Amino acid sequence: MNRRNFTRTVAAGASALPFTHSFASSFSQDKKLGVALVGLGGYSKGQLGPALQETENCYLAGVVTGTPEKEKIWADKYGIPEKNIYNYETYDQIADNEDIDIIYVVLPNSMHAEYTIRAAEAGKHVICEKPMAMNVEECRQMMNACEQAGVKLSIGYRLHFEPYNQKVMEIAEKNTMGDINFVRCGAGYRMGDNWDQWRLQRDLAGTGALGNMGVYAIQGAIYAVGENPLYVRAQEFKTMPKKFDETDETVTFQFEFPSGVVANCETSHNASMNYLYVSAENGWIELDPYSQYGGLKGKTNEEPLNFPQVNQQARQMDDFAACIMNNTQTPVPGEMGLRDIQIIDGILASIESGGDKVKLDNLAF
Ligand code: NAD
Repeated sequence: MNRRNFTRTVAAGASALPFTHSFASSFSQDKKLGVALVGLGGYSKGQLGPALQETENCYLAGVVTGTPEKEKIWADKYGIPEKNIYNYETYDQIADNEDIDIIYVVLPNSMHAEYTIRAAEAGKHVICEKPMAMNVEECRQMMNACEQAGVKLSIGYRLHFEPYNQKVMEIAEKNTMGDINFVRCGAGYRMGDNWDQWRLQRDLAGTGALGNMGVYAIQGAIYAVGENPLYVRAQEFKTMPKKFDETDETVTFQFEFPSGVVANCETSHNASMNYLYVSAENGWIELDPYSQYGGLKGKTNEEPLNFPQVNQQARQMDDFAACIMNNTQTPVPGEMGLRDIQIIDGILASIESGGDKVKLDNLAF
């Protein structure tokens, strides 16, 4: 990531603290953009649907679901007209629906590529959830489809719009604590007892903890240092080999950055952890928890931090809508999603080799 990209990242949604939206008044808002959620599982139901009641630049216009009972539930709850409700067979007909400007893909990871590409072919802008796709090739196909259709693509990296994490980005960007010299970052949770869930199945999830929670640790390390990593070493551990027979349970990895900084990272589907610690020449900052939807806490060597708790998803979607209206670049584009899949490939290569140091070449962002 070059400095210019990074500056844009920090600028997104951030003016002076406490990080109020800087874009809301920057385009004339005669029409809110319509968002259609594809996949009405836990994240849509618990976070995105409610967040779209708080957005200023976009609103919940439609849904796509394979479960007929959910159609009425969502229609009643959010007043969605029948003509804006689709299933996976009628999905492509969204092309003819002027109410819908943005399609938000909230499906199991193996379906991200197909539904993003079909959204682009329908002429709609796309937000795709993390991890972007199953592999680098799929990411490139998604980016190509969006480019050819002339639509924007962004990844659901909500923490770029969250004040505590924006503070970490700002410290790296503005060098306010002096040079960064060490980072620790961990994101993981103990998975429930449902052994049939798609997150444990390689063909639906791709990887286990790594693609699910590890992307937060990858992201945190990168924006805390303000550089892309140059090398990675990684290790994988299993305490429940039967449960995690197809996907990774716990992975630790260490990045080396061009500046010499090391980031020690960990992720798990069987251990609870959620922290980002950054040590610099003249101080430190620690967020714990740092990547949850709310209740984030943080302190520096000088003081506790007290930023407002915001609706991260509302800010993320509002920013994307503003990028569309203003024709500006989203701070969390497909290239960033691809970069993180490239890094996951490097982590897997290191694990495969028994922990060798792997060079991270030609990162896309
Ligand atoms: P979920 O299991 O709760 O929901 C998945 C949805 O996909 C369900 O509605 C299910 O019916 C539907 N589906 C369609 N085909 C399916 C199939 N073959 N197998 C299983 N489900 C199928 O999952 P979720 O937690 O909503 O996650 C969806 C996506 O959102 C994932 O990519 C995940 O990584 C991402 N996510 C992101 C965040 C975030 O904070 N950015 C949080 C949670 C989930």
